[in-house]
Amino acid sequence: MTDENLVLLNPGPANTSARVRAALGRGDLCHREPEFAHLLGSIRSGLVEALNLADSHEAVVISGSGTAAVEMSLLASVRPNRSVLVLSNGAYGERMRRMCEAHGISTYEVTASWDQPIDPGAVLDVLATHPDIDAVAVVMHETSAGLINPVREIGEIVAGTEAVFVVDAISATGHEEPDLGTIHADLICGTANKGLHGLPGASFVLVSAQKGAARIAAVPSRSTYLDLAANLAAQRAGDVLFTPAVQVYYALDDALKELREQGGYPARSADYQRRAQLLRTGLERLGLELLVAPEYRSNSVSTVLLPPGVPYQRLHDELKRRGFVIYAGQGRLAAGHFRVANMGQLSLTTLERFLAELEDTLELFAGSSPAQQNLPVHLRTGRAAEETRR
Ligand SMILES: *Cc1c(COP(=O)(O)O)cnc(C)c1O
Repeated sequence: MTDENLVLLNPGPANTSARVRAALGRGDLCHREPEFAHLLGSIRSGLVEALNLADSHEAVVISGSGTAAVEMSLLASVRPNRSVLVLSNGAYGERMRRMCEAHGISTYEVTASWDQPIDPGAVLDVLATHPDIDAVAVVMHETSAGLINPVREIGEIVAGTEAVFVVDAISATGHEEPDLGTIHADLICGTANKGLHGLPGASFVLVSAQKGAARIAAVPSRSTYLDLAANLAAQRAGDVLFTPAVQVYYALDDALKELREQGGYPARSADYQRRAQLLRTGLERLGLELLVAPEYRSNSVSTVLLPPGVPYQRLHDELKRRGFVIYAGQGRLAAGHFRVANMGQLSLTTLERFLAELEDTLELFAGSSPAQQNLPVHLRTGRAAEETRR
């Protein structure tokens, strides 16, 4: 664990190992030299192997945050005058829709409340009545709530159509179920700095060999930088289109090696499950309530209802003073919630320490401001009103 650094309990960037951070200092490298082609090849094969996609998908790595990978995927998945069906039950689903709109791509939407999964039956209905849908886009793990969508069920439905299945798995790669090799996804988006324990600045798209590759080849380019087909063609030849974040790639390569050495995806998802279990048991023991029902919870993000009389910023600041960074609620969950992630280089002992500091902090607040005890009633009323409005 990093002694000198803050413990990051935000959903990425997560704490990294000393080895991964040290990779940044490996030195300078020209991206047109064979050493870089070797590095890129190692990352591309490392990604598909780590994620159980070696027989079915090819990786395209890009310098940019996870949003770049998602936007690149959407631009490459829909032919002119066709539409995208966006499945939206959180901030990242909403972002995908805004991306389509920014590029003049027409959308349909299936929505759900932010604490509920997308209904595959609704996806089936919309697909059956709208033959112009070229792509179905879903967020596998909605980080805004910490909820897993039924991607395998949706993938089975999409597989029976002409549409490609685009999955934002950015906060799911390496540690969430179901296994990405089983969900019938054609374009899978991920990033270096969440569950893969790399550093921010690199993200990727995993393209299925048949349906995905054929579709992106058939879609005219909508962007120079975020051109998935052109990036794939270059990377197949060991090359890149533009200057990559070379040192961040070193770190990602080492993070993938570390993942393999630690037992790969099965070991990491089991580890994350233990972390989340410890954290949630501890939170509930403190009388805190979780937003998402147990059957839909991810292994890595917990959304917690703010307790009576505790303003988020004060809680955040006091915990940060004690060495832990928690994360605010997002979008319509901003009021009345906070999030705790358990991603990255993080031990169970550290999580226990966090729970002890949280308990201490909550006791401090309970003692100091009895007048605010009624606050959460208003907050919860606000949440309920927001949900019925939708
Ligand atoms: C983190 C995240 C992203 C991308 O965020 P960036 O800040 O661009 O890296 C996209 N989708 C989901 C579900 C995420 O959790």
